[in-house]
Amino acid sequence: MAAYQEKKLAEERKHRNMQNGTKASQGQWGRAWEVDWFSLASILFLLMFAPLIVYYFIMSCAQYQCSLTAPLLDLLTGNKHLADIWNRTPMLTYRAAGIYSLWVTFQVFLYMSIPDFCHKFLPGYVGGVQEGAVTPAGAVNKYQINGLQAWIITHVLWFANASFLHFFSPTIIFDNWIPLLWCANILGYAVSTFAMIKGYFFPTNAKDCKFTGNFFYDYMMGIEFNPRIGKWFDFKLFFNGRPGIVAWTLINLSFAAKQQELHGEVTNSMILVNVLQGIYVLDFFWNEAWYLKTIDICHDHFGWYLGWGDCVWLPYLYTLQGLYLVYHPVQLCTAHALGVLVLGLLGYYIFRATNHQKDLFRRTNGHCRIWGRRPEYIECSYSSVDGTRYHSKLLTSGFWGWARHFNYTGDLMGSLAYCLACGFEHLLPYFYITYMGILLTHRCLRDEHRCSSKYGKDWERYTAAVPYRLLPGVF
Ligand code: NDP
Repeated sequence: MAAYQEKKLAEERKHRNMQNGTKASQGQWGRAWEVDWFSLASILFLLMFAPLIVYYFIMSCAQYQCSLTAPLLDLLTGNKHLADIWNRTPMLTYRAAGIYSLWVTFQVFLYMSIPDFCHKFLPGYVGGVQEGAVTPAGAVNKYQINGLQAWIITHVLWFANASFLHFFSPTIIFDNWIPLLWCANILGYAVSTFAMIKGYFFPTNAKDCKFTGNFFYDYMMGIEFNPRIGKWFDFKLFFNGRPGIVAWTLINLSFAAKQQELHGEVTNSMILVNVLQGIYVLDFFWNEAWYLKTIDICHDHFGWYLGWGDCVWLPYLYTLQGLYLVYHPVQLCTAHALGVLVLGLLGYYIFRATNHQKDLFRRTNGHCRIWGRRPEYIECSYSSVDGTRYHSKLLTSGFWGWARHFNYTGDLMGSLAYCLACGFEHLLPYFYITYMGILLTHRCLRDEHRCSSKYGKDWERYTAAVPYRLLPGVF
């Protein structure tokens, strides 16, 4: 079987590396082949506790008005037992299972059955069939980019329902929030387990599979690089964008509707969260073709990290601000609201402009202008597993001359703005900036480790030219 042969090859490669005394030689630049104890411990921790963390946050809102400390205090002082909390938690319902199945089926339908038409009439939008980056095995996949269209159709239907069809209440998501959590978990675990089995027995491209020999690591970080069913159903593209990111804005709208129902108004903080996160989501779909060149698609394999993360972590934890505002309707003073808006928009501008500079530079192979000048860059080269040599360029001007990941800095500024919209009464809304800070710093280090393995000495020249990662002069 092709996957088993690749597994054997991986073991031989690992043996060879150990003999050479190198951990990751240039040319072996995908996800890790070997698992150190720290990675293993982190993975075991996340596998065990990530679902509990999500439950804890959502339960704290439902039962403790979003206080993160009150449930712990209740448990530690013996005021409540775990069973008391659990018994008050809504269970899986047929209604939630029906809503969730319909939701996922509808998103699969939009993804698979309606080829993109937005690129035909929206100037500047890149949709339809697009090519991804070269995989470590040297393959180039084609993708049907139709996320913007799926987002528009879904939201038009949502507004049509809320305004005149009235098939269901716009608060439907909030009203079934915990039962839907169980459905999302079932899908998240099912898809990750399926991806693992598929990686062993019927991979889409056996040469792009990675086996570390550690079951937990492989389950979490994935074996297959680009698992697919048929020619077009790409697991990474589908699960990353839909159902999670299409749902993000709908979830926020449902929270706004609930705030209106409970408190008779939608506060300016809720509007800010809806607008700023709406811009971020719309940006994601407008740039879905660009997204094919990001780390998620270009470098990460598909396992629990992406499968469960996209189904559960993203829709439940990225929307905490809206959920918090249902329980604590915060009306901000004008100066505070303006401050949040300016920070959010500035963060978004930096995030988008930095990503755009790299994209433009790579797409035109350096034949473009960055801030009105010819770009400065470092020529570099790398090889794929079969030994083919490729050439590339690393941009060192524009925002990319300020820091090696200034796009993450912009993203962090935007994330902070969403949290600040919720005021300062509780910690819970600040989970997002804490999490994004850890995620993007870790991602930065992980990416740099990978780039260093990929580009070797050329990467050293690049880090000498652009010495800071996120904040010029600081880090
Ligand atoms: P980047 O878009 O920064 O991509 C990193 C890759 O770009 C590197 O691996 C390298 O790939 C290439 N590269 C690095 N430096 C240069 C350079 N100077 N010139 C040209 N190419 C370079 O990172 P991500 O894919 O992680 O992030 C994309 C966006 O998504 C970011 O803005 C991030 O903030 C956002 N994001 C948001 C998340 C969320 O949950 N909200 C999660 C993750 C990301 P190569 O091998 O091609 O050289």
